[in-house]
Amino acid sequence: KETAETHAFETEVNRLMKLIINSIYKNKEIFLRELISNGSDALDKIRFLALTDDKALITNPHLNITIKADKENKKLVITDTGIGMTKDNLINNLGTIAKSGTSEFLKAMEDEETADSSLIGQFGVGFYSAFLVADWVSVVSKHNDDDQYIWESDAENGFKVYKDPRGNTLGRGTEITLSLREDALEYVEDDTLSGLITKYSQFINFPIYLWTTTTETVDEPIEEESTETVEDKKDDDEDDDVEDVEDEEKKPKFKKVEKTVTKWELMNENKPIWTRKPKDITKEEYVEFYQAFARVSDDPLAHIHFRAEGETDFRCLLYIPGKAPQEFMTHVNENVSPIKLYVKRIFITDEMPEFIPRWLSFVRGLVDSDDFPLNVSRETIQHLPILKVIQKKVVSKAIEMFTKLQKNEEKYNTFMKEFGTSIKLGVVEDHTHRNKIAKLLRFHSSHGKKLVTLQDYISRMRKGQEQIYYLTGPSLEEIKKSPFIENVVNRGYEVLYCPEPIDEYVFSSMPEYEGKKFQDIAKVGLKFGDEDEETEEYFKSMNEKFKPLADYLKETLKDHIESVTVSNRLTKSPCAIVANEYGWSGNMERLMNAQAI
Ligand code: ADP
Ligand code: MG
Repeated sequence: KETAETHAFETEVNRLMKLIINSIYKNKEIFLRELISNGSDALDKIRFLALTDDKALITNPHLNITIKADKENKKLVITDTGIGMTKDNLINNLGTIAKSGTSEFLKAMEDEETADSSLIGQFGVGFYSAFLVADWVSVVSKHNDDDQYIWESDAENGFKVYKDPRGNTLGRGTEITLSLREDALEYVEDDTLSGLITKYSQFINFPIYLWTTTTETVDEPIEEESTETVEDKKDDDEDDDVEDVEDEEKKPKFKKVEKTVTKWELMNENKPIWTRKPKDITKEEYVEFYQAFARVSDDPLAHIHFRAEGETDFRCLLYIPGKAPQEFMTHVNENVSPIKLYVKRIFITDEMPEFIPRWLSFVRGLVDSDDFPLNVSRETIQHLPILKVIQKKVVSKAIEMFTKLQKNEEKYNTFMKEFGTSIKLGVVEDHTHRNKIAKLLRFHSSHGKKLVTLQDYISRMRKGQEQIYYLTGPSLEEIKKSPFIENVVNRGYEVLYCPEPIDEYVFSSMPEYEGKKFQDIAKVGLKFGDEDEETEEYFKSMNEKFKPLADYLKETLKDHIESVTVSNRLTKSPCAIVANEYGWSGNMERLMNAQAI
């Protein structure tokens, strides 16, 4: 018999463990969600493997998750028939190799505002949530490439790993036993468990069974005939043929009895929601699915669910999240695609970040293709021409979803606040859809408090006005105070306020909209529609008159400026420095300097 090896947890994992076992978080129940989701991930992996390896499932043909409470011993056992873990997997995945999310999670927990232990799964350390309710955990696992091994830990003294002396009893998969803490004994109760499992397993695509004890009313045969009344006999006789009398007499009679029945009860429907018809799916179901799928707790702003037919057959369900992920989350999920790819209901991968263009990376959802060959590797999928067709359709459907959302002003304002920068990135990067995306843009403007569209702006353009005026700056306040604004606004023209760094790129990649050129009012090239020939004359004479001053300024500032002109831009301020038409604006200069640091 092999002796047990003891391993210390990696430093960060150790800190995580201490935090978890000492935690006073109310939301302990999420451990079940995390363990079920790990089981489901493991089942996804073996099912994916089985596509190309027909022997993968021989070790256990069933694909499911089972959950059983042992009240007497205060234990909860969660078993899956997924891919399992080799001895090395157990050591590496459950303790010695820290994931990037570990320290991010620790950081998030230190800050009161972000301390929400239910986020643990998003940081890739969900397994350790077992210690929210258990003071001792054992993981028995059998992987096709190794013997059955046991990992166990009391969280405080590292963990032990040893070969299972009972042999390879699982066939394949993982069995997790939690020895529940005194304050977590509710998790052996049938009612608590079935409530939680129903909540967390609704959208898991494998059957989940709970070992339940229920009282059922069953029909039990009555043996003796003496109690039979004459009336009963008469009733029966009426229905039966004479020849059958003998048989009839042997037929047992039944009575209803209450019986305690213990059995595996199926807890979920496990029919993927996206395969159902949209009209049969309630709003609540769409929300719940989003939360389970994206592992978040916000309500999505919108969704679009469609089936594409024609060039290629696929189903797709996309969501706009209710809020942008917190800054620290963005690089935890760097390699994860926001769109999960399924082939014929089978999860294939979420590791294709380039599946969807960068500007749409905030969208969550999935694509389920009927046309991909099942036995294809992730690498080949990336190069299949069909993938391009799907990508195109998904992008245009996402834009359709945003366009529709505009009808709901409140939600659309939230959308702009959370994801407006991404939409602007779309204008910069997506040439094909630029015009459609531009319609989604919203700007602050001198017109009023409400955000305006470019269409709004154009509809208010004055007679003779050829350009769409905008001004960039470090903040709305500073833009509003800018000396460039006063004259333009006083003359009755509207100016778009552009405080975001990306605004500069938006206008340089989209120099005009519906035939109207964008004009930075702090740059050379500004033209008003109300100058007439008389003023042209007037300018000429003024330029003449002030030539000595202009020459003097130009000479004195020759290292800093290109030219000096008399201008009609200003009303109250005596002078302003403007940028060359093709040069950087003052704001851009500021941005570039900031980047250089
Ligand atoms: P995540 O699921 O985000 O990767 P977890 O902390 O939940 O993070 O799990 C860590 C790793 O442990 C998983 O990535 C997986 O490799 C392994 N693991 C956990 N539970 C199981 C299981 N039931 N079957 C197989 N592997 C598992
Ligand atoms: Mg997990």
